[in-house]
Amino acid sequence: ECVKDDSSTNTDRMEPIVDRAREIIPGGAQTGLRAQAYDTGDVAFESASGATLTTVAGEQYADYHLGFGPIILGHAHEDVDAAARAAIDDGVLYGAGTTPLEVEVAERLVDLVPSVEMVNFCNSGSEATYHAIRLARAATGNEKVLKFEGCYHGWHDYVDVSVYPPANRIGERYPESDGMLSAAVKNTLVAPFNDPDAVEEIIRDHSNDLAAVILEPVPHSVGCLHPRTEFLETLREVTEVHGVPLIFDEVISGFRHSPHGIQGEVNVTPDLTCVAKALGNGYPVAAVGGRSDLLAQAGGDNESGVVISGTYSGSLPGLAAARETIDTIVAEDVQAYLTDLGDRYRDGLADLLEDHGVDGRVVGHRSIFSVQFGVRGEPHTYEDVLGLDEDRFHAFASGMRERGHFFTPNPYKRHHLSAAHDETHLESYLDAADAVLAEL
Ligand code: PLP
Repeated sequence: ECVKDDSSTNTDRMEPIVDRAREIIPGGAQTGLRAQAYDTGDVAFESASGATLTTVAGEQYADYHLGFGPIILGHAHEDVDAAARAAIDDGVLYGAGTTPLEVEVAERLVDLVPSVEMVNFCNSGSEATYHAIRLARAATGNEKVLKFEGCYHGWHDYVDVSVYPPANRIGERYPESDGMLSAAVKNTLVAPFNDPDAVEEIIRDHSNDLAAVILEPVPHSVGCLHPRTEFLETLREVTEVHGVPLIFDEVISGFRHSPHGIQGEVNVTPDLTCVAKALGNGYPVAAVGGRSDLLAQAGGDNESGVVISGTYSGSLPGLAAARETIDTIVAEDVQAYLTDLGDRYRDGLADLLEDHGVDGRVVGHRSIFSVQFGVRGEPHTYEDVLGLDEDRFHAFASGMRERGHFFTPNPYKRHHLSAAHDETHLESYLDAADAVLAEL
């Protein structure tokens, strides 16, 4: 249940803040996707703890958004925050030499993630994919990058192409934003996910000008597409034959699904890997790691000329949070807990859809799930997600929010679970879903 604080001081705070935001912040929030939270009513959040998100009006929600996914251990996690605070006490940024913390986190990535031999840190997933592509372009001398419909790799011009193309633009290079560099878009090739023949043909045809193939090994930007083994294996074989670096964007999956990434589950090892989000339980920290010959290009001497820079790269609170998050995930086997909990949410929701005769499906993997209305069967490609009923999802999100459960009202996105979610959240969520689905 959404707990409401009816004291007038609290409820009176929401409207003025939202109004002020709308006047001076485009869309009234930091990104278009954040602005979508207004779909279900004015909202400004002020605090979060465990699995609970609280608005400036004192309304509390069970949070399934978790900051777009990073919050794997729960909001305001005591040990992670204590580690970050200790780093703050020693000064947040030196910008010179190395630090014990960056060595320790890099060593953990090398130990845990199969493809990672060397590591460079940055602050966000977009930076990580940008750096990975630059390393791949430098190594191959080629410019083109192949990506897949329905995969998101960040906001930069190299990759913000054909993430959510409209039905009549499938198969094209569809720029997701105005203002993008057309030369960058032209150098971004697009293929359907999970189609080994299509990808093999494109890589063969472009073997002379392809710099990299990048994918979310489990595309969660469209809920969840499970990769076919044959698809991943073909990708690995063909890129190897043609000397094209394969980049796994594990920004969502890394440390959320497994400390080893999806690459640890599927036994396909890419050349480069990007991690962010769950790596730092919400602190801005990200990394590109991979084959040492690729990473070593950024070594800074004259013969190896890739520039990877960033004032805040390796900033200490983020690295301290990452070290603590990784150690907690591994020590507590958080993924085993979350996989079981995720299965129960998915099964419960699927049963409810059936009980209420609502056309739809529940998809997901481990701690991630999505309910998609108006579509059935297991989705394998972006096109399989396209027909979903957006209006129904909005109605569902709205009803759930009224009952105290928050997730982004974007029908293509996903719910996340954290180690702070438990049985009580599960029961309360399913009770609410039961009531909302009865009304849909
Ligand atoms: N890659 C994937 C798979 C993502 O989901 C995201 C963000 O949602 C990014 C890259 C970009 O990361 P960031 O938003 O930290 O720049």
